[in-house]
Amino acid sequence: MNDVDMNSDLYNIYVGMDDTDSASGMCTTYICSVIMDRLKACGFRVDGPPRLIRLNPFAPHKTRGNGAVSFKLVLKSEEDVEIAKNLILKMVNELAVMEDPKTNPGVVFYEGEVTFELQDYALRTIRTIVTQEEAEKLAEKVGAEIFKFKKGRGIIGSLAAIGCPLTDATYELLAYRDPANYGAKRRVDPESVLEMNQETYPDTFDNVDDGYMAITPHTPCPVLYGIRGETEEAVVKAHEMVKVSEPIESFRVFLTNQHTDLHLQKIDAISIMKQFQCYIVQGTVKTQPVVIEGGHVIFTLEDESGGVECAAYEPTKEFRDVVRNLAPGDQVEVYGGIGNKGTLNVEKIKIMDLTPLYEYLNPLCKCGKRMKSAGKGKGYKCPQCGNKIREDSEKNGEVKEINKVKERREIERRIKTGFYEVPPSARRHLSKPLVRG
Ligand code: ATP
Repeated sequence: MNDVDMNSDLYNIYVGMDDTDSASGMCTTYICSVIMDRLKACGFRVDGPPRLIRLNPFAPHKTRGNGAVSFKLVLKSEEDVEIAKNLILKMVNELAVMEDPKTNPGVVFYEGEVTFELQDYALRTIRTIVTQEEAEKLAEKVGAEIFKFKKGRGIIGSLAAIGCPLTDATYELLAYRDPANYGAKRRVDPESVLEMNQETYPDTFDNVDDGYMAITPHTPCPVLYGIRGETEEAVVKAHEMVKVSEPIESFRVFLTNQHTDLHLQKIDAISIMKQFQCYIVQGTVKTQPVVIEGGHVIFTLEDESGGVECAAYEPTKEFRDVVRNLAPGDQVEVYGGIGNKGTLNVEKIKIMDLTPLYEYLNPLCKCGKRMKSAGKGKGYKCPQCGNKIREDSEKNGEVKEINKVKERREIERRIKTGFYEVPPSARRHLSKPLVRG
């Protein structure tokens, strides 16, 4: 059944696409952008910006950032609908990296309102692992048309890109390279990026990491750079400030669920956690964090229901210093996902309460000098006046234990309560930076 706008006799068609690229090249956003240009050149109307929807960061078949795209076409006749659909399918077939066995494109067309069921499916695709069978069944139920190239796994993401609710959203402007330069070093002026950041932050963010520009990817894909921000105006203004010494073929602004924490599920028991899902969970630090080979920092978080190993991996750089300084007893809220080793990969942490830590000093002598150990189990001796004190020395009739004889002093903690996050270079696309509040 066609969704015809009765007032204007227009056909609203949502188009979703995914799994068109490969690790060796191409990008689903670029294919989407080229197709949109062609549709517009044919006189078809694309309503609003296209959407770049990031899905579960732990999905097993992802190439890189697990992104899918969608856009809305507003067409005048059934004939236009047929022409537009055929054009889209033909272009996906031409532009997708079909020769890569891991590339399995899927395209979905949907005419109608985005229902609660579609939204719920999209959230499950962002937060859990779904099956292709599930996506196909839902498509059939809601009357969405699916087109599978090869195995067609991309329909999972395509349907989610159409259904994803965006109560919170950001924008990303993607500038695309001249194809002649694919694979070559990106020629973007870092100074201009630092200036752009000074001018536009925090309306744009994640432009700079530790003083270095962070807008250029490191893959051979068509993207020259991406600028992320709060509004379309902000990312366009920032783009106009970036200087490059290679041609920009085109650019496109996407509305996106990036940096919204949409992947995180707030739970109240560690035992509920499942592999390949992302959570916000509170607990107590159980073990002293340790640095393991490779520079990763590991600790155990526990609550009444159980415990989970948490990790701040090496790429999270100085964030590890915060984690390393946690201590057993600290109360924290951890944001992150369970990877394939069952470890919670920490993206952000809120330190809610720091437990007091103490050090124990040798007792002070009555002469004022700090005493020295007289040997294991032998108590203390003053190096100045020679006064001795036994570990179990009696004072006022009480036998003192060693820690009672010793002087207890509170150690100043090196961290404070509050929020801490990984640096931009280690941030997941979906992770909400603290600057976004
Ligand atoms: P890029 O970011 O470079 O566009 P990618 O990382 O998005 O690439 P894809 O090539 O799109 O990777 O492959 C991801 C595949 O996993 C797609 O076929 C998509 O439909 C599927 N997929 C995405 N999310 C899930 C999920 N939650 N459960 C199962 N499959 C998923």
